[in-house]
Amino acid sequence: MNPFEALVEAMSASALETLASFDLDVALAAGFAPDRARAFSRLQTVYFGRTSFTRKQREARSRAAGFSLDELLLIERRIARVSDAAERWGLRLELLRVDGGYRAIEQAARELAPADDAPVSDAAKFGPSRNGKKTLHWTLDEREMTDIEFAGRQGIDPSKPAAEQVAQNLAAIFFGGGGVARAVPRPILAVGLPDFVRIMAGEGDDVVLALSDGTTMTGAEFLAAQFGDILEVATFHPEAGAVNLYRTERRANQKQRDLAKMVSPVCAFPGCRHGADACELHHVTAWKHGGETNLDNLAPLCRYHNRINDDDPGQSKRGRIAMIRGAPVWISPHGYPVRNTDRGVMETLFG
Ligand SMILES: [Zn+2]
Repeated sequence: MNPFEALVEAMSASALETLASFDLDVALAAGFAPDRARAFSRLQTVYFGRTSFTRKQREARSRAAGFSLDELLLIERRIARVSDAAERWGLRLELLRVDGGYRAIEQAARELAPADDAPVSDAAKFGPSRNGKKTLHWTLDEREMTDIEFAGRQGIDPSKPAAEQVAQNLAAIFFGGGGVARAVPRPILAVGLPDFVRIMAGEGDDVVLALSDGTTMTGAEFLAAQFGDILEVATFHPEAGAVNLYRTERRANQKQRDLAKMVSPVCAFPGCRHGADACELHHVTAWKHGGETNLDNLAPLCRYHNRINDDDPGQSKRGRIAMIRGAPVWISPHGYPVRNTDRGVMETLFG
């Protein structure tokens, strides 16, 4: 048996034996991904650990013969939301009846253990004290919670981890100044030019509009509401991208920064998770090559990727950013375009 055949054997035909002898410390030391190693460890507990459901556990072991480790892990993921142990054992045994492989189990799990789409109610739950700290788990309407998040993010230092700064900001708002939020968020409403024309003509009831904070409203709500100074509206052309309002500024102004962030809500380099709020505005055609500070030439890049982007096409080693249909796209050194996000306003509006 070559190593690959041995791997397949250990993961499928001999899955239960593999599980019986699984050792978390050995797996971690051997370089298993910690999440995956812990999932195996929990699986071992299910099938071989101590339980008051010994008869069901024995039955599960006999039914699990022929299942691969990935299939057994899939079953655990799908029943994890069920809080009652007896009910969980029932579902596990049901799913161990399914033959037909991974996809068939997924399908059966969808029917037997449907995803939890019950209405969520507002709640605030306080955890126990640990090392002098306590945790609050808080659920409110997305609109309210987004506003709270916005308030918490004001003035944070993007070069340091956000979570601790946000926590301290929120505590300062709560304990200081009588609990009045210091800033009112100003979400921007994104509208494609063709939709904008339809809505203004009163024909946009089925049009869903995206706001820059991740919420939505319909064209009818847009017309019905009195927005005044709480909402800013930005229009986007299907090909050209953000409608260019200022063409003469040397430095990007706030409006341009806002619009560029909507086109690309993260750094445009593939795999980079830096949010546009923490990015610099990069000139796609370099300033030194005559590139202008126009929206069709500006892309948010994090400090690191702005530095390594190749400004001189032709000698590209790390790839470079180009604009395609109004949105920034990374071009690999071999010339392949790769988009980092499909959550920008151009994709949302025009697909
Ligand atoms: Zn980046």
